[in-house]
Amino acid sequence: MENYEKLEKIGEGTYATVYKARHIPSGQIVALKDIFVNEDEGCPSTALREIAILKELSTNCTHIVRLLQVLHGESSSHRGLTLVFEYCERDLKQLLDDHSCRLGLDEIAIINKQIMSAVYECHFRGIIHRDIKPENILVASEQDMHVKLADFGLARGTGVPVAGYSPEVVTLWYRAPELLLGSTTYGPAVDVWAVGACTAEMIRSGQALIPGRNADDQWDKTLKVLGVPRASDWEDFIKAGCDEARVRREMFKNQGVVCSEDKHDVIQTLLYPKKRQHQQLELEQMAVDFCRGCLEYSPFKRFTAQQALQHPFLARIHLSIIDTDGRGGRH
Ligand code: ADP
Ligand code: MG
Repeated sequence: MENYEKLEKIGEGTYATVYKARHIPSGQIVALKDIFVNEDEGCPSTALREIAILKELSTNCTHIVRLLQVLHGESSSHRGLTLVFEYCERDLKQLLDDHSCRLGLDEIAIINKQIMSAVYECHFRGIIHRDIKPENILVASEQDMHVKLADFGLARGTGVPVAGYSPEVVTLWYRAPELLLGSTTYGPAVDVWAVGACTAEMIRSGQALIPGRNADDQWDKTLKVLGVPRASDWEDFIKAGCDEARVRREMFKNQGVVCSEDKHDVIQTLLYPKKRQHQQLELEQMAVDFCRGCLEYSPFKRFTAQQALQHPFLARIHLSIIDTDGRGGRH
């Protein structure tokens, strides 16, 4: 720890503080994530999970933030646990809040392709991220729009046999419908929904697609924004392990409300409210269609990360130019 000089605080989360710092011997700028360690309970499980998962993932995928070192100290100058990461310029939320830099659709597709590649890599290795949102997408270099998926504190392996997962994951605005309906056996599709919500937010210049105030409001707003689920979607929610009584109640409540069979139109209006269909550029159509696939109510009909990467909106992007640090990637 004596080898690092803290320069400024760059983030404060529930279980850690993040600093920009300099590695004194080499001059390298890094990010230090200081984990709060409780005297009685020791190291939080979130930190242990994050380390274990990143050790495996971050050496294999260029689009996942690189964990450089784990420092553990008992001395007076350093107590507890510190994760050393490669330093990134800022996160996607900060980029979207900065009105001086509006993202074009090509840039949005480039960002998306990198994040979806990272998500694909996680899912390929049996890991669900469970907290994808703009704050957890880091911008490594703004000039070439090189971004990385970060914050694996909530990530879980799918191969570990557990009684059930907690549905209280993923920050509200990016939370998939099966989670809002209490599923405890959900799968990687929750990450794809979150990427879809982030994509819509980027297209809407930083305006969140479904900004609920609490879990109930999030569900109500989801229906208001995207329309009522189809009959087969309700069935799929039950198959996806949602609370059956809750699903049936919601189904009953929304009986008679005409559901939009064509989500394409709904999403098109949300993303491009002022445009008429015939004025749409081909790329805009692709973006709308891409979001539709990621924001399917049914986790079984929703794109998988692999299908999303094969969609024309992302398939046309070649990342080789920005895979510069020699680690390559599956895509
Ligand atoms: P938490 O679990 O507390 O949310 P994160 O890992 O998401 O922790 O870090 C919190 C914030 O700190 C991020 O949203 C981002 O703004 C900043 N941050 C984290 N890691 C880095 C990094 N490697 N480079 C630059 N900023 C970072
Ligand atoms: Mg975070």
